[in-house]
Amino acid sequence: MCISSRMNCDRHRPIELIEWVIIVLLSTVILHGCGSNPYQTFHGETMGTYFRVVGNCSPTLTQEFLETELEKLTAILSTYEPDSAVSIFNRTLTVGEWMSLDEVLVDVIDIAQQVSAQTNGAFDITVAPLVEIWGFGATEVIDRPPSDLIAGALKRVNYKLLEIDESTRLVRKHADIQLDLSGIGKGYGVDHIAKKLLKQHDCSDFLVDIGGEIRVLGRNDANKPWRIGIEAPDESGKVQAYVQLSDGAIATSGSYRNYRIFDTVLYPHVIDPRSGLPASHNLLAVTVYHETAAEADALATALFVMGFDEALEFAETHDTAIALTTWDSEAEEKRVKYSTAMELLMKSRN
Ligand code: FAD
Repeated sequence: MCISSRMNCDRHRPIELIEWVIIVLLSTVILHGCGSNPYQTFHGETMGTYFRVVGNCSPTLTQEFLETELEKLTAILSTYEPDSAVSIFNRTLTVGEWMSLDEVLVDVIDIAQQVSAQTNGAFDITVAPLVEIWGFGATEVIDRPPSDLIAGALKRVNYKLLEIDESTRLVRKHADIQLDLSGIGKGYGVDHIAKKLLKQHDCSDFLVDIGGEIRVLGRNDANKPWRIGIEAPDESGKVQAYVQLSDGAIATSGSYRNYRIFDTVLYPHVIDPRSGLPASHNLLAVTVYHETAAEADALATALFVMGFDEALEFAETHDTAIALTTWDSEAEEKRVKYSTAMELLMKSRN
């Protein structure tokens, strides 16, 4: 802008433009170089697995802070801890009466119920009695459960038997149901930590990972979008594809790490709450991208329950980015199918 009557405005205009460009470039360099905090990495154990946090957060972020936050969450959400809020809820026999629960537990139930409705019950946190009889809970199981035991457990499994009053945030059981939050808890933990990093620790760029459920924001320390590997569904730990992200979450569910074998038949830990049977099909793993890690985590479990065809149809109808890894028994090799939204995500460079 030319403001001085003594200036030769025509002569100065191009110089001012160049100056503006230099100022903008310099401020970008300063913001990335000195203005923001240096990247730090934290590791630890939580929820029966590992956690990892990388980010350019303020020095207020410490290992102790992360561990304390995750311990607080585990004390509410873990079915592995007898005195957690969810374990106490599971032991409560009160049916039909509204109960006041910890707000974090209500929040998780709320998100879980929405995913259950969206996936027509393929995801269902009332699955606990089935998890138990198939040997994925506290009790050791040495034989395939008989059909009458499965039928009995099924009577206590249905997300519609659990209700939240959205205005009072009270919760009630409509039968003697029990909750299993393993299909959503790690993702919820990732979102919880991500919120804390943003609100309390001044992080503009971060990656939070709990046992493979990952959420990112911004860029890595090389000033590039975060590069998230989609692991091969086997014990090799190899990455079969990469997604570059600057916002959002990636979660995977699979049959390859946690399963039981009865009479030489392999039964994965993801159970179809509608049939009462473990989700046995040629699907080895489902990876889902979503805005939040809790929803990505729950959706990955639901889509694994559905199997290849139904999961792909769901992804195309709901414009969801997913990767489906199957086992081709004729060719004796793995195959990966990406939904249209996942193909676009993999091509994008953010
Ligand atoms: P996901 O696919 O994400 O979840 C599968 C799990 O969800 C199953 O194992 C089952 O429990 C449940 N599930 C099965 N079918 C369905 C369905 N249709 N709908 C909904 N849920 C279903 N593990 C330990 O060994 N020790 C611990 O101390 C421990 N503490 C934990 C604390 C918390 C708060 C949480 C959330 C989990 C904890 N775990 C612990 C569990 C462990 O981390 C699980 O293996 C993990 O949560 C399952 O994740 P995944 O990614 O393997 O499978």
